[in-house]
Amino acid sequence: MTKRPVRQRIRQALLLLSLLLFPVTMNYFSPYVIIDGAAQGIINGSLIVFGIQFLAALFVGRLWCGWGCPAGGLGEACFTVNDKPLRGKQGNWLKWAIWAPWVGIIAWAAISAGGYHQVNFFHLTESGVSMDAPERYFIYYIVLGVFLALSVFVGRRAGCHTICWMAPFMILGRKLRNLGNWPALRLKAETERCINCERCTQACPMSLDVNGMVQRGVMENSECILCGSCVDVCPKKVISYTFSKGK
Ligand code: SF4
Ligand code: SF4
Ligand code: SF4
Repeated sequence: MTKRPVRQRIRQALLLLSLLLFPVTMNYFSPYVIIDGAAQGIINGSLIVFGIQFLAALFVGRLWCGWGCPAGGLGEACFTVNDKPLRGKQGNWLKWAIWAPWVGIIAWAAISAGGYHQVNFFHLTESGVSMDAPERYFIYYIVLGVFLALSVFVGRRAGCHTICWMAPFMILGRKLRNLGNWPALRLKAETERCINCERCTQACPMSLDVNGMVQRGVMENSECILCGSCVDVCPKKVISYTFSKGK
């Protein structure tokens, strides 16, 4: 068995740690708690976290998805069960079909409450720990079960492509950054060194055609999570991280 590069072992250890902490952190990523907070005019933990994800994406894209998300950790843990790449863009639209009405409900709830007038990071999480009552494990296992089932029955990080309500915040931040074209964390490629071995494409946890991106000289892709797998697997060191403006 080939030994994984140190950077990838560190990354996967961080993802697993985040997955282990999910019983503590779940409410801060919750699509429900944010609605409950909005209905009472409360800026809660998940609203703040989603706001941070959007703002961070202006400079580091979807780094959170590659290095810190518990559901991402679960998705990659499932690679040992089903490592089938999801080629094409089928299903990527679904998360927008979920996200748009959900954001509409949050806005409607906040307007109905007369706007936000209070900040409580720990709204519905008074102890600071999300799993502070046995019945909350029901929600915990439903969330994990849906992401698990998609990874096991559909393929690599299928939940990230199709149902994630957080990804659109980061994609929007990233698109705004691209419009402004200010310095940010990106990938760059030296196409002339590429030998078309396709190892980058095979290694990509988001099933992107990385070799094609290299050949086109366009490394920007809204589904790229900046995990660095392609960077570390390339035998010719064609791909690298850069903190710079885009082309
Ligand atoms: S797409 Fe969603 S579930 Fe997947 S890693 Fe990113 S935030 Fe987590
Ligand atoms: S293109 Fe490279 S950095 Fe982006 S998700 Fe795929 S392997 Fe990770
Ligand atoms: S791994 Fe490197 S050399 Fe191989 S196709 Fe990808 S960029 Fe080209």
